[in-house]
Amino acid sequence: MRIITKISEMKGYAHKAKKNGKVIGFVPTMGSLHDGHVSLIKASQKESDITIVSIFVNPKQFGKGEDLKKYPRNLARDLLILKKEKIDVVFIPAEKEMYPEGYSTYVNVEGAITENLCARSRPGHFKGVATVVAKLFGIVSPCVSFFGQKDAQQAVVIKHMVKDLNMCVEIRVMPIIREKDGLAMSSRNTYLSEKERKEALAIYASLKHARTLLEKGERSAHVIKGEIKKVLLSGKHVKIDHIEVVDAENLKPLKKVKNDTLIAIAVHVGKTRLIDNMVIRT
Ligand code: AMP
Repeated sequence: MRIITKISEMKGYAHKAKKNGKVIGFVPTMGSLHDGHVSLIKASQKESDITIVSIFVNPKQFGKGEDLKKYPRNLARDLLILKKEKIDVVFIPAEKEMYPEGYSTYVNVEGAITENLCARSRPGHFKGVATVVAKLFGIVSPCVSFFGQKDAQQAVVIKHMVKDLNMCVEIRVMPIIREKDGLAMSSRNTYLSEKERKEALAIYASLKHARTLLEKGERSAHVIKGEIKKVLLSGKHVKIDHIEVVDAENLKPLKKVKNDTLIAIAVHVGKTRLIDNMVIRT
């Protein structure tokens, strides 16, 4: 496994690989890796000749008062995981490498997809995400890049950006990987106390409850949201950020659940913000 920290070296490597006809698969991450990340790596290895993983905690996607400083970082452990997965290259740029003095270019995906869900409570977040992913695509030149359905809105934003800017990369969105008890894997789960960890189970329980109601024929978004809320509020430390029922493609709110509906939840459990979702395909 090659470790690259400089943009020029990463670009040189990618250029040579492409010249040799290699398909580059790319998995951008913020590190503190778990099985969710590993599932993306495995998907990339299935489809590509070379798998490149980036680790970069992108300051531009954290708002004021968010957890940039305390975001879990564990490079030694991450490198062990990546070695075990036999990836080809890990790209670990420093902040100054990505955003040198005078940096001033941003990618802003506009419209409904960056107005609701997480965008409401995290203004500027998706501008930071789109900017860093656009930069990483420019550096790594992937043929195909892998994202998790866990961050459903992020995946929609990236697909939109790639389409609008005619970028030469295919986007794959892979299923949510969960802990045995159903909690969606997240680097932020490490923030949870034992009590909070138990209460966080209400998130997946509420989605499962919604699915049961849908299977019984319920279609009202209002009713579904109300039922999700009831389950979520069973936890003392759970505070709801949003429960949304939207079109999975354009993220516009729906009154009635239809095929390809995204039910998205964001909550605070104690001080930790957690997200989860489910796509309904009827
Ligand atoms: P992050 O390191 O949190 O920025 O995540 C890097 C990538 O891993 C993103 O595309 C995430 O959507 C994806 N990811 C994070 N958690 C999961 C999960 N539980 N299952 C599948 N993919 C995930």
